[in-house]
Amino acid sequence: MLQNFRTLPQLLDYFKDEQTCKNYLAQHRWDGKVTCPFCNHDHIYITNRGYKCANKTCHKKFSVTVGTIFENTKLPLRTWFAAIYLATSHKKGISSLQLGRDFGIDKKNAWFLLQRIREVFFTTDKPEKKDGLFHIDETFIGGKNKNRHADKKIEGSQGRSTKDKTAVFGVMQTGGEVFAIKVPNTTTETLKPVIEALIEKGAIIVSDEWTAYNKLSADYDHIVLNHKAEEYVRGAFHNNNIEGFWSLFKRGYIGIYHYMSPKHLDRYCMEFTYRFNRRRTHDMDRFSDAIKRTHGKRITWKELTANPTTENGVVSETCAVVE
Ligand SMILES: [Zn+2]
Repeated sequence: MLQNFRTLPQLLDYFKDEQTCKNYLAQHRWDGKVTCPFCNHDHIYITNRGYKCANKTCHKKFSVTVGTIFENTKLPLRTWFAAIYLATSHKKGISSLQLGRDFGIDKKNAWFLLQRIREVFFTTDKPEKKDGLFHIDETFIGGKNKNRHADKKIEGSQGRSTKDKTAVFGVMQTGGEVFAIKVPNTTTETLKPVIEALIEKGAIIVSDEWTAYNKLSADYDHIVLNHKAEEYVRGAFHNNNIEGFWSLFKRGYIGIYHYMSPKHLDRYCMEFTYRFNRRRTHDMDRFSDAIKRTHGKRITWKELTANPTTENGVVSETCAVVE
């Protein structure tokens, strides 16, 4: 099986029809051994339309897409695969408007397609605690006061206020991965449990002088860089790595997405960390890894658009046309 595409045309040449896509999905989903998604039985009949479980108490029919992000889709898998390739290889992502135009699908469907693809970036594994050297930092997404008309400006929304912005907290291990998560605020009460869940006691943590980090020295070797005094590097300690991640995330926000709803911000965090943590791998490896992760990740339109929230006082749109 040819699996060494280097470009989108090569990928589309290979996935020339639905059956080729199904075979590829089956190979990656089950690693060559078809398993019933209902009872995990591995004695399976192949039928004209898909599979049938040989377990007498089950006997269910299923297709390769059942339980995956592709379940019940009306789009050809070929379109999905091309979209997954673009979403995993474009460093700053691809907007639903762009994808809709490129693929000739309406913006609502393109938005839904991309949100379902984002499911593969999530991991259900509990993060492992790690030892070593870490950089921690926060950033804020949103906040358009400077572009707002005077009577629409949100008062007191400057700086760390989350009145019209959403806070994202990031942890990056030197030589390791970045982890970013949406947080309701940047207080000690919010950030400390995240730090403790990810970093072993006794590890080295580099941060700026934000007061929420004040008590970290009780459990960690805490290096505080004094950004107010323009100290960004002290010997081997600096925040350049995580700054590099924030910079990519913000370039994606400003240049590609233009808007990330607070409600779905975690999905964008996962998308950007997924690509960033695999930035040294080939596009094709990222694509095949993403295909492997498509099962057990199904999300419906109803689930995605449930509870239009007013988190942080900001009304989040269920299907933001500018997203
Ligand atoms: Zn079964």
